[in-house]
Amino acid sequence: MGGRRTLQHFRFQHRFFAPNGEHGKGAQKTGKDGAHCIIDVPPGTVVKDAQTGEVLADLTEENALWIAASGGRGGRGNRRFSTSTNRAPRYAQPGEPGESKTLKLELKLLADVGLVGLPNAGKSTLIAAMSSASPKTGAYPFTTLTPNLGVATPPHSEPFVVADIPGLIEGAHEGAGLGIRFLRHIERTSVLVHLLDAAQIPEENPLEPYNTVQNELLAYNPKLTKKPVIVCLNKIDLENAPQGATMFEKAFDGPTLRISGATGQGVNELITRLAAILNNPPEQEP
Ligand code: GDP
Ligand code: MG
Repeated sequence: MGGRRTLQHFRFQHRFFAPNGEHGKGAQKTGKDGAHCIIDVPPGTVVKDAQTGEVLADLTEENALWIAASGGRGGRGNRRFSTSTNRAPRYAQPGEPGESKTLKLELKLLADVGLVGLPNAGKSTLIAAMSSASPKTGAYPFTTLTPNLGVATPPHSEPFVVADIPGLIEGAHEGAGLGIRFLRHIERTSVLVHLLDAAQIPEENPLEPYNTVQNELLAYNPKLTKKPVIVCLNKIDLENAPQGATMFEKAFDGPTLRISGATGQGVNELITRLAAILNNPPEQEP
């Protein structure tokens, strides 16, 4: 905790050396191995081979350790070279040099909030609404390059990144293309927003659309269903939505929020509630 958040510090130092192994010694001593040189990077750092671009490590977890280059092995002392006729040879092995590598570091953008929901629930529209409710969106150029990321700026706290997680339903947990990449993305989010189309709540089983997505999350990674979640009844501006919302609220055991990504209704309230959770994270299971 309290570690790096960016790669800025590499602007000032970008060459690192771990010492070579010590030479082997007389008096039967093996030289010491070269000490490790530990380089601190923020979680979300992807390490690539500078020449080939090959991804060598994806350091997403806090406190993950990856050996980029090994220090030199210490040389073996003279005893290892003794024979029956020469018990104390005047030879010991030199220490080996450490490995040398040129690496390229990239920092993945990690979202704080993940939006889940069936196709057409209104995820993309809500991302846009949450970002445009933020006066500072222009300061985050990636929001125009990557339409499924947005930045919300709560009135009195830190901005946070919201990611739209598409393709859950299309068998994403079985490894199908785009979906799985985004599912990986939400593993690190602190909060989920589960978006429901309030105009599409089936009368005979109001929880069905909710359960479908919940089961997908469970199948992919049960930990996801342990994250704090805000269940939103979206498209509340549509004529039959309030009725659908009421059916869901009666059947569902937990708090919900009525919103409309299209008109902006409830969006500021959602941002405020998310900020409250992000600023006061619940105790995580170890
Ligand atoms: P996604 O598949 O979850 O990303 O859903 P989209 O954001 O693409 O929205 C699906 C459709 O619903 C689009 O035609 C949107 O214009 C419409 N839509 C999204 N949010 C709302 C809303 O709050 N109210 C209304 N009336 N329509 C919405
Ligand atoms: Mg979408």
